[in-house]
Amino acid sequence: MKGEFDLIERYFAPLAGPAGLGLRDDAACVSVPPGTDLVVTKDVIVEGVHFRQQDPANLVGHKALAVNVSDCAAKGAFPKHYWLGLCIPDRIDEGWLSSFSKGLHAAQTEYGCFLAGGDTTRIDGPVVASLTLAGSVPPGAMIRRSGAVVGDDIYVTGTMGNGSLGLWCLDNGRQEHPALVSAYQKPEPPFGLIGGFSDLANCAADVSDGLIADARHLAEASGVCMRISLQDIPLSLAGKALLADEPSLWSKVWSGGDDYQIVFTAARANRPAIAAMADKTGIQITRIGGVLEGSGVQLLDKRGEVVQVTSGGYQHF
Ligand code: ADP
Ligand code: MG
Repeated sequence: MKGEFDLIERYFAPLAGPAGLGLRDDAACVSVPPGTDLVVTKDVIVEGVHFRQQDPANLVGHKALAVNVSDCAAKGAFPKHYWLGLCIPDRIDEGWLSSFSKGLHAAQTEYGCFLAGGDTTRIDGPVVASLTLAGSVPPGAMIRRSGAVVGDDIYVTGTMGNGSLGLWCLDNGRQEHPALVSAYQKPEPPFGLIGGFSDLANCAADVSDGLIADARHLAEASGVCMRISLQDIPLSLAGKALLADEPSLWSKVWSGGDDYQIVFTAARANRPAIAAMADKTGIQITRIGGVLEGSGVQLLDKRGEVVQVTSGGYQHF
């Protein structure tokens, strides 16, 4: 394989935006328009943890950016510039790098941002892609975790559990649910929500650790209790089909992680506006519960009784 500079020139310089200066300088130079806050996030993906060694490299490139776009979208910020720290072992060849950069290029085109710089290094270990993404919002408009108000509705975008069910399918040689596998290998965060969403939501978080864990983050930051109705958690058709065959996988719906959707709360008065936003964007938005005084996450079963969820399923008190 060619030297580091040739690789950067060939595979990454074509992805650079104006701030990246062709990836030919020591640093990027970002012009931030007046009246803009930069929202900056970093998510690292590691081979063997967030993707599999045999996953197509273009999908790894897509995922490296998409998992960061998920955080940006949850904060109501438009992705603008990103930096890529890439650690590659000797077995990685130019074919892999070419495919990885193509996936990254397709993703940055989809999400409207550009590469601004990074670093590339050898590693005696797994592939690591550490990506930092800067997005823009009007001053003070970043949606925090801490804004939930008692009486708010709780919503989630998309459907839950697909990514972790997809990983289960891959690990267990089950090929009948390509939609689930795709959700794991090529997550698509609800990018279309950015813009319309900041004025409507009181708090938001991206769902990457599982719905319950991320709703708990909102509850803790806001000093409230999040009451979620288990039967209202939206599932995909493929998810429902797999769960009908494999009921032991149910817990992945709320604690599997790898969803890259958004959980948020909004005032009841915003119900019509949120329904209109779902119509306009084509993004599924489902009301799954409400915000109460108290703390933590409370789950209700279909009879309205409080249940306790464990990793193996849920149990009545
Ligand atoms: P130095 O090590 O002297 O700081 P580098 O060789 O790391 O310089 O980087 C040279 C240029 O290439 C810089 O503009 C840097 O941001 C860019 N760069 C290096 N690796 C990557 C990468 N994986 N993705 C994007 N840009 C990169
Ligand atoms: Mg360097």
